[in-house]
Amino acid sequence: MTKKQARGLAEQQVDRLFALAEREARVGKDDRAIRYVSLAIRVSERYKVPARHKRTYCPSCHAFFVPPRNVRVRTGGRRLSVSCLRCGRVQRFPIGKHWSE
Ligand SMILES: [Zn+2]
Repeated sequence: MTKKQARGLAEQQVDRLFALAEREARVGKDDRAIRYVSLAIRVSERYKVPARHKRTYCPSCHAFFVPPRNVRVRTGGRRLSVSCLRCGRVQRFPIGKHWSE
């Protein structure tokens, strides 16, 4: 298996883990969701998978965001601020891009 194939498989696995995390988070199983997010992050780092799920979880406690239950999104000026209601971490993004991209 080439490196490229390995990365492709890793990418699929990361997508699957985020899908599982989302499913658990939506039914309130945050601890399970966090486990899937942590795993996905580990796989992405190992295979350098493009970080396209970045804004869907908290970088600090790995909670999968389910607005508005565990995340607060506010716009102020030209910035979007995303606060994790689990650990209080606030991330700021410039406005202009879709938030889940
Ligand atoms: Zn958090």
